[in-house]
Amino acid sequence: MTPDLLPRDPLTPPLLDAQGRTMTYLRLSVTDRCNFRCTYCSPASWGGKRDLLTAEEFERIVSVFARMGIRRVRLTGGEPLIRPDIVEVSQRIAAVPGVTQVAITTNASHLEKLAVPLREAGVTQLNISLDTLSEATFRSISKQGDFAAILRGIDAAVAAGYALLKLNVVVMRGVNDTEVADLIAYAHARRMVPRFIELMPFGQGTPVPTLELVERLQGAGLSLVPDEGQQEVTSGPARYWRARGGLVGFISPLTQNFCGGCNRVRVASNGDLRSCLGGRAQAPLHTLIRGGATDADLALAIRRALGEKPDGHRFSEPGAATSLLPMMGIGG
Ligand code: SAM
Ligand code: SF4
Repeated sequence: MTPDLLPRDPLTPPLLDAQGRTMTYLRLSVTDRCNFRCTYCSPASWGGKRDLLTAEEFERIVSVFARMGIRRVRLTGGEPLIRPDIVEVSQRIAAVPGVTQVAITTNASHLEKLAVPLREAGVTQLNISLDTLSEATFRSISKQGDFAAILRGIDAAVAAGYALLKLNVVVMRGVNDTEVADLIAYAHARRMVPRFIELMPFGQGTPVPTLELVERLQGAGLSLVPDEGQQEVTSGPARYWRARGGLVGFISPLTQNFCGGCNRVRVASNGDLRSCLGGRAQAPLHTLIRGGATDADLALAIRRALGEKPDGHRFSEPGAATSLLPMMGIGG
């Protein structure tokens, strides 16, 4: 690690990685368990790691990251809303000084009852995953999920008044790639921003390159114009286009590498810091906390792991699928 990455006080911002990128966004996987087990996300062999962090431990980790310059936190999983204490986890994190935004990515199955309590706990934004409007297609992706509960959950989220709702769609050839225009209309009718994600190699299915999808939509008569302004506003990996009904996002990890602007760091559900979605560099924050580490010890471990953060993921390399932690364990 270069001296620049190790300031005298490891808690002092900025939090830089090995490439000199400033980290401001933390993704926390609050559980590796899921009530859906989608084919592209959850290998049958994935049993999960049972030792999850407590609400207090998440709060402690977020408070250390916030002192180092993290401002936005996303809770993901597995399915974050199956944690019985998810409202408390959200509340504690939203109250950490320095944290300005708490978002959750969810499959919506528990939103009917939780949309309002989470909003009141300080969650400002939800990303909701819905790959299809057909129950039969949904069943081919997840044998376990309750399709009607998802649709009710989405309507509950729309009614709860979140500042921003996004609809995440993983596009798979021959499964849901003909539904893209319908999903755009469904999202825009609810003032949600639909985002279409290229399938990454964590499970089954064939990806559809973003450009092909855009050309197919345009060929079918949908007006789609690139919206460069949104890129600066969102600073995330999605690239936005403007349709008549609103914005449409595309996330293209395979065909438009977004790693250059990476500002994110991940903590897996067992408390391991992962410096990159597609990498292995890590720090065992959970073990350190249980061993009595001070905030400065944690900050030092975080900086050391980020000192090995690669310049980009390696999804396109042969064997990538077998060398990665399943999506359910790292949380997307
Ligand atoms: N259970 C929650 C959900 O489904 O929204 C949160 C966890 S899930 C791992 C987070 C996001 O990752 C979801 O939008 C999901 O569609 C996406 N995802 C899962 N596996 C993926 C894959 N192989 N390629 C691309 N996106 C994937
Ligand atoms: Fe569960 Fe979400 Fe993965 Fe589907 S995408 S298996 S809902 S964690």
